[in-house]
Amino acid sequence: MAMRLAVVIGHNSVAQGAVRGDSGESEYVFNGRLADLMADRAPAMGIDLRVFRRVAGGGYRREIERVYDQVDQWGADASIELHFNGSSNPDASGTETLSSGTALSLRLAAAVQDEMVIALGLRNRGIRTVAADDRGGRSLIAGRAPAILVEPFFGSSARDQSATATAAQQLQLAKAYLRGATRAFEAFPRADLAESRTIQAVVKQRTAARTGARTSVATVATAMVSALVGVPETPEQAIAAVQPLAVTLQTYLPYAVPVLALLAVVCFAISRAQADRIEAARLDDHDREIR
Ligand SMILES: [Zn+2]
Repeated sequence: MAMRLAVVIGHNSVAQGAVRGDSGESEYVFNGRLADLMADRAPAMGIDLRVFRRVAGGGYRREIERVYDQVDQWGADASIELHFNGSSNPDASGTETLSSGTALSLRLAAAVQDEMVIALGLRNRGIRTVAADDRGGRSLIAGRAPAILVEPFFGSSARDQSATATAAQQLQLAKAYLRGATRAFEAFPRADLAESRTIQAVVKQRTAARTGARTSVATVATAMVSALVGVPETPEQAIAAVQPLAVTLQTYLPYAVPVLALLAVVCFAISRAQADRIEAARLDDHDREIR
């Protein structure tokens, strides 16, 4: 299933944010166009992308919470809020990304920041972790999904304007966001924990134990073995574990020893196979750097 990327346009149609010194275009208009470029190209990159717009009303905090509620309801795996910077100092220049500081937000921030710096060639101002009350902070903590806020350039800088003025340059920036998101998504944990093979194996083992307790003597014998000697390392240990009980039973029942021994070996084989699958899944997750 494709990962879901929510693109939130910074500011709103009433208060449109900073403006570019060259074209006079606002953050809201400029980033609306960038978001459309991203939406066009996302499917080819295997990303399920949806654009969200903030709507003025009820105060800043409510405005942010409303849009990130929509992002959550859609089931986004991550969100990027698009901005650009502005300063009264015409020399202020460069690219920066704001992160909430969670592991996944930082991972997304690092990948997107990298790609923006490559695409624009402007000064790398790095990643800033911000608190809820800092500028932009509310957008980073309002939703459930890992969130970042990008400030790719200063609209007030002549140098930055010339790196982002043409349609081709703006397309490169849109692609940079998508490449960054793709890279980050590759290292994200699975969206649905039920897709994790580790979890599937554990669920299967638990279900088997539960069903078995009701329907199969084999599971009872496994529990017995485990209770007596812990989880047996070898079939011989499993047999040894049930031996005392078997000997007692033999007084009353013929064949108790061979039957219980056979059950012990079968149980051992089942639980070992399941343990191997869990181990393989964990190793796989380890390779993907998932914890
Ligand atoms: Zn802004």
